[in-house]
Amino acid sequence: MSRTTHQVDLAIIGSGSGNSIPDERFDDRSIAIFEESTYGGTCLNVGCIPTKMFVYAAEVAEKVSEAGRYGVDATLNGVDWPAIVGRVFGRIDPISAGGREYRVDRCPNITVFESHVEFDGRDAATGRYRLVTADAEVLAIEVVLAAGSRSIIPPDIASGAAPFHTSDDVMRLPELPARITIVGGGYIAAEFAHVFGSLGSEVTLVVRGPALLRHHDEEVSRRFTELARKKWNVRLDTEVTATSTLADGTVRLGLDDGTTLDTDALLVATGRKPNGDRLNLGSVGIHLDEHGAVTCDVHGRTQAERIWTLGDVSSPYQLKHVANHEQRVVQANLVKGWDADDLESFDHRYVPSAVFTHPQIATVGLTEAQARDAGTRVTVKVQEYGDVAYGWAMEDTTGFCKIVADADTGLIVGAHIMGPQAPTVIQPVIQALSFGQTAREVARGQYWIHPGMPEVLENALLGLEFD
Ligand SMILES: Cc1cc2nc3c(=O)[nH]c(=O)nc-3n(C[C@H](O)[C@H](O)[C@H](O)COP(=O)(O)OP(=O)(O)OC[C@H]3O[C@@H](n4cnc5c(N)ncnc54)[C@H](O)[C@@H]3O)c2cc1C
Repeated sequence: MSRTTHQVDLAIIGSGSGNSIPDERFDDRSIAIFEESTYGGTCLNVGCIPTKMFVYAAEVAEKVSEAGRYGVDATLNGVDWPAIVGRVFGRIDPISAGGREYRVDRCPNITVFESHVEFDGRDAATGRYRLVTADAEVLAIEVVLAAGSRSIIPPDIASGAAPFHTSDDVMRLPELPARITIVGGGYIAAEFAHVFGSLGSEVTLVVRGPALLRHHDEEVSRRFTELARKKWNVRLDTEVTATSTLADGTVRLGLDDGTTLDTDALLVATGRKPNGDRLNLGSVGIHLDEHGAVTCDVHGRTQAERIWTLGDVSSPYQLKHVANHEQRVVQANLVKGWDADDLESFDHRYVPSAVFTHPQIATVGLTEAQARDAGTRVTVKVQEYGDVAYGWAMEDTTGFCKIVADADTGLIVGAHIMGPQAPTVIQPVIQALSFGQTAREVARGQYWIHPGMPEVLENALLGLEFD
């Protein structure tokens, strides 16, 4: 098949954070954007935004279910799953379509190629990078890799006889499954367990390791696992070894302990791998690290001259706020030029993250174990939500805020919060870490609204013991 040939100044692979690169500073450059899936990338279409819209619906259902504790007479009579799906994607799909339309119709210097693209070395005549799709070749002077990541599917499930879902399609199920089994114990598994559990599905989690959220501070992982076991059927230290479908459509999972598990829907949430292995990067001299990530320097430069990278395809953090930060750095550096001596740098010092499960979880900095392993003389305080006024008003019995600080310098080194509004409550710690404020300065250098939820953080900070 013959391909049309295009020459551009800049090629961007991926329309997630990559789509934000071209602004008015790029109006005089010809640009190609490649997108093989839905325009706008993971966060908008199948990641952060839709999941949190489902989580919000789950929170509302959860509140109704708990209303009796506060003397409010309300019962959850059921949920209208198609209406929830309709609300989420009725809002998201037009935003995605609008983003695509803007680039296609209103940006004369930009051509959108809606297909898979790979490198094919350099063009011999021009020396430009050669990017090929099924029906086009694009010769580019400069390239940005913003190709994201995809779900990992364990081989026994991929080769099994039963259908399975990933986060890409589970939010569009036509009806709420009576039973759902989620394979995985990380944040995506924990969020979907909350969504489906609170909306009425019977949830089973099949987890390879001995606890949920194992990359979190041990206290968070332990307490969350305990709570999860009360709400959901949690099978720890267990793996799926085979899948089959029964005549009535039931999915049957064979587990490595010899038992079987029947379910109506199977969701695989066992992690994500960067998409660099699908770009033929070897043809331009770019190699992947042991995790499959594209390697780069702090300015976003890969080993290949004038090929930049950002986001999940290369970042040690698969988070949207990090992808956006890296996009801003690469964008600024594209304007400055590859060899500029004042290039901007990625700041990965204090990357926070949250798990929008129930209860919510937020974390930043080192876990207590990491701080001790690093040789820090640590001081630790765990403050219960129920011991401060707002947590008390909520009759919260499970939330806590754990602060890990350096006993010698007074600086906070990590914070780990599980409880209502945790991603909001933690923000002053992110600020303190970023600006080098001590625990004492943060606690006593400002007012804390009484009786606001952040008082749990204030009290945790005040409870730290220094010599
Ligand atoms: C279920 C879920 C929930 C999440 N929740 C959160 C959250 O709450 N907070 C948070 O910070 N992060 C969250 N994330 C992570 C976040 O979505 C990602 O870190 C972020 O979207 C990565 O952005 P990106 O631009 O690097 O990649 P993407 O947004 O994935 O964009 C990459 C694009 O490149 C395209 N592409 C890839 N290869 C090719 C190719 N060869 N040719 C053409 N196109 C290609 C892909 O189709 C994709 O659209 C979540 C992720 C998931 C899956």
